[in-house]
Amino acid sequence: MNLETIIRDVPDFPKKGIIFKDITTLLQDGEAFRLALNQMLKKYLDARIDKVLGIEARGFIFAGVLAYKLGCGFVPVRKPGKLPFRTIREEYTLEYGSSALEIHEDSIKPGEKVLIVDDLLATGGTALAAVLLVEKLGGEVAGIAFLIELGFLKGRDKIAKYPVSSLITY
Ligand code: AMP
Repeated sequence: MNLETIIRDVPDFPKKGIIFKDITTLLQDGEAFRLALNQMLKKYLDARIDKVLGIEARGFIFAGVLAYKLGCGFVPVRKPGKLPFRTIREEYTLEYGSSALEIHEDSIKPGEKVLIVDDLLATGGTALAAVLLVEKLGGEVAGIAFLIELGFLKGRDKIAKYPVSSLITY
């Protein structure tokens, strides 16, 4: 099965000039969804991960399953104002705009090994913000896993210090 062809390109969403990689076509295909997750999982089976961190919103879809399969905790990283308890925040820039991410201050214990998960690596700003949040809490970034990587945007350079994996590169 070719996962690349199952992902839908939506031109000019959410802004003119952006080709949005729409993963809903993969998610709605049970076989493709399972294949993608099993492939993402394989790389981390022996990595002794303590927490899987998912980035709102599409990162949650993959991170929750990976946490379940690895038998470890799930930590949500969310847009400002969404998490109910005390948070720390990191500002970042996107391929289309800028934003900030927050994490609960008690969600990662010092020394814990963390796997960061999102659907797509574009410029790397989002992933780097997640890395900085983990490190502020004393966690160790053991890996950063994506379904898709937009190689031409060179996001990997921003997070080159960490083990990065992606299943599909455009
Ligand atoms: P970046 O911070 O530039 O690496 O952007 C990554 C984040 O923005 C991820 O959470 C993606 O879901 C989203 N994103 C950025 N560009 C695209 C795109 N072309 N298609 C789908 N999602 C995107």
